[in-house]
Amino acid sequence: MDSLKHIDQEITVSGWVDNRRDHGQLIFLDVRDMTGKIQVVVNPKVSARAHKTAEKLRSEFVVSITGKVNNRPEKLINPNLATGTVELEAANVKILSEAKTLPFELGDTKKVNEETRLKYRYLDLRSERMTKNLRLRAKAASLTREFLNSSGFAEIETPMLSKTSPEGSRDFLVPSRMQAGKFYALPQSPQQYKQLLMIAGLEKYYQLARAMRDEDLRGDRQLEHTQIDLEMSFITQDDILNLAEAMMVEIVEGCGKKVLEKPFPRLTHEEAMKKHKADKFDLRENPPAGGKDPETFAFAWVTDFPLFEKDEESGKITFAHNPFSRPKEEAVEKLMAGKDLLELRAQQYDLVCNGYEIASGGLRITDPKIQRKVFEIMGLSKNQIDERFGHILEAYEYGAPVHGGIAVGFDRLVMLLANEENIREVIAFPVSSSGQTSVMDAPSEAYPKLLKELHIKIDIPKSKN
Ligand code: ASP
Repeated sequence: MDSLKHIDQEITVSGWVDNRRDHGQLIFLDVRDMTGKIQVVVNPKVSARAHKTAEKLRSEFVVSITGKVNNRPEKLINPNLATGTVELEAANVKILSEAKTLPFELGDTKKVNEETRLKYRYLDLRSERMTKNLRLRAKAASLTREFLNSSGFAEIETPMLSKTSPEGSRDFLVPSRMQAGKFYALPQSPQQYKQLLMIAGLEKYYQLARAMRDEDLRGDRQLEHTQIDLEMSFITQDDILNLAEAMMVEIVEGCGKKVLEKPFPRLTHEEAMKKHKADKFDLRENPPAGGKDPETFAFAWVTDFPLFEKDEESGKITFAHNPFSRPKEEAVEKLMAGKDLLELRAQQYDLVCNGYEIASGGLRITDPKIQRKVFEIMGLSKNQIDERFGHILEAYEYGAPVHGGIAVGFDRLVMLLANEENIREVIAFPVSSSGQTSVMDAPSEAYPKLLKELHIKIDIPKSKN
């Protein structure tokens, strides 16, 4: 792309042969690097040697080409190419690496079958769309960090090997070699750690955190996803909503998109259910020509979610968001008395965008007595509570600030920014819909030696074989 600044000068371009066209005497190449593409013309009258080498080139060979940047004659300008006004006149062509014929073309790789695309993800990522998506993702991440850093947040990492922290999904387990028969859980979110960081006095924490959830996959779900995870102390719910709102505007507008309504409309859960019959909805108008404007982002807050809900399978009462959500002040008395549980509301909110739940969060319980009660209502015995959550209940006995936070589904956000329909399109190495990893063959069987060290015997029922 910089070639435009070097008219009549000699430059060297290194990259991949995107395309080769033989016009008898002249050979035309499109050469692609991370900045874009440029047309190269190889003329035997300029260099017979370069022309000889260029005859051997095939698509996706890696080359290094030195030559002069010429303005193209008016009628040969290519308006579809950012460098369409110039071409590189090759004086020297060097082949750095040859390439086999690719298993698919790099045009619209969405048409390629999923298994092949993911097996050769490194080729899929060469396509213009995928490269653009990954760069957009990097930009959104960088806007996020800039915003939060300048708002006084500290970026802090939390462990991947940890104890289970329920977010309503199944845990991934990792066996411990040093402590035979014991397991770590991969975090479903950094929830408890960010609460502990508030008790530690950090006041403003964030992290672009990986969250691992062993659940069935859909277009907007993966086994691991990235969250913009944050937590703040000495705040009200409004402080968090205002901050998250400013952050979202910064990211979305920084990526060149429009925000439909500022400040974002705020509805209670009850209002949303009445008005939209759902807790997520799309506020963009549907023009008669069909299709909603993908350049516009319609955000809305939904607040005051129920504290509890009925688990569909067991019929038991369980938390609606996570077990740490703080009940609304007026709900505390009934909660402690165990009354009208399904009617109680929490200081818990979601951010909705164009029909998706894009973020959710809440204020947290800081009184260990209330926290214990919530665990009891979920059906845990005293022993179970102490075994699973004793650490955090104890932490709250040493002085805790009022605090709360939010986690933004970063993959989903980038998916919307990129106008894609599946988060796989904005993740470098996603898993397939059956949970198979890109390029590498996982999950796969473990070496017997490893299993032995871990004291693990595999026992698969016949039905699963
Ligand atoms: N841990 C929550 C989640 O992953 C977010 C939060 O409450 O901050 O949805």
